[in-house]
Amino acid sequence: MDFRLMLTLTNIARKIYDVLIIGGGGAGVTAAIYSVRRGLKTALVERKDIGGQLLEASTIENYPGLYGVMGPELAQLFKMHLLEFDVDLIYDEVIDIHIKENIFEVILKSGEVARARTVIIASGMEPRRLNIPGEKEYLGKGVSYCAVCDGALYKNKVVAVIGGGSTAVSYALYLSDICKKVYLIHRRKQFRAEDILVKQLRERSNIEILVPYVAVEIIGENSVKKLKIVNRETITEKIIDVDGVFIAIGHEPNVSFLKSINPEFNKKGFIKVDARMRTSIEGLFAAGDITGIENQLVVACAQGAIAALTAAKYLKEKEPWSFKLIN
Ligand code: NAP
Repeated sequence: MDFRLMLTLTNIARKIYDVLIIGGGGAGVTAAIYSVRRGLKTALVERKDIGGQLLEASTIENYPGLYGVMGPELAQLFKMHLLEFDVDLIYDEVIDIHIKENIFEVILKSGEVARARTVIIASGMEPRRLNIPGEKEYLGKGVSYCAVCDGALYKNKVVAVIGGGSTAVSYALYLSDICKKVYLIHRRKQFRAEDILVKQLRERSNIEILVPYVAVEIIGENSVKKLKIVNRETITEKIIDVDGVFIAIGHEPNVSFLKSINPEFNKKGFIKVDARMRTSIEGLFAAGDITGIENQLVVACAQGAIAALTAAKYLKEKEPWSFKLIN
């Protein structure tokens, strides 16, 4: 059965869930599986599709037992696994949360309100924007934040990838199999990416590494044609001909819907949690990238499991809330 159909069949307004999970990435999916298996009435709200950042990832080489699986393929496996369980999947966007008489009221963009005794926030992160001229204008016309989603459009073409982390380097590697030429543009001479990826990068003959360069403008005519970059040491400008620009400069936490209940955040804008994934608000848990504790799938999944198990314990015992921060 199609997920979107399930949404229309799910009369969320009448229910009070034991656990409502926000986000269908690794953390949210694992939390849902653990929650249902504890016999809890569970809902998962996702605005796009199950898989989160996996949908945009190329090859996954650090998830035990699944070496070399493609991100979207693993996302599909997560979805199929989730479908085995009695979870209400709500395809909608959370825009606000209120707490009334110990019940969380989760306000959805569609106008619906989902109610729950506990909430697990697993809303992950959004790609960070460069905020340079041409970025917004040519989004979808040569500018992309996802090599796996859009890479095939650039067969035998020339593209630039911007960033020096593992995402940027894995994008460059992925695109070098498809494109004629890939420029990797990074603002420093040292890479933040894992050494093993940087080694592979240097071995590819059709990848040109341009460091220390910053991108200052994306130039086009209906679609992307050129990229203007500036060398940070010599302050000289260079314009390269490209058909596409892939921006991979990190991510920012998705927390805009938390303005009303306002849990504690750390200085970098991630939700503070203790070792049991409890936030500063009773009954509210967080898991995955939103906690800022290592942006790794396997960590997100583990945190999702801990959050669900703690929520189950909390619901069973209504244990006193002793929030001890670890970050
Ligand atoms: P990241 O590690 O935070 O790297 C972001 C990169 O973008 C950095 O090189 C940074 O430069 C650069 N950057 C940030 N803001 C910029 C700006 N305004 N202009 C130009 N450059 C800018 O992000 P990520 O690569 O998305 O990785 C996130 C996490 O996921 C990491 O923990 C990573 O290990 C993990 N990951 C792992 C894999 C894997 O295959 N194992 C794949 C993808 C992601 P500076 O270095 O100068 O700060």
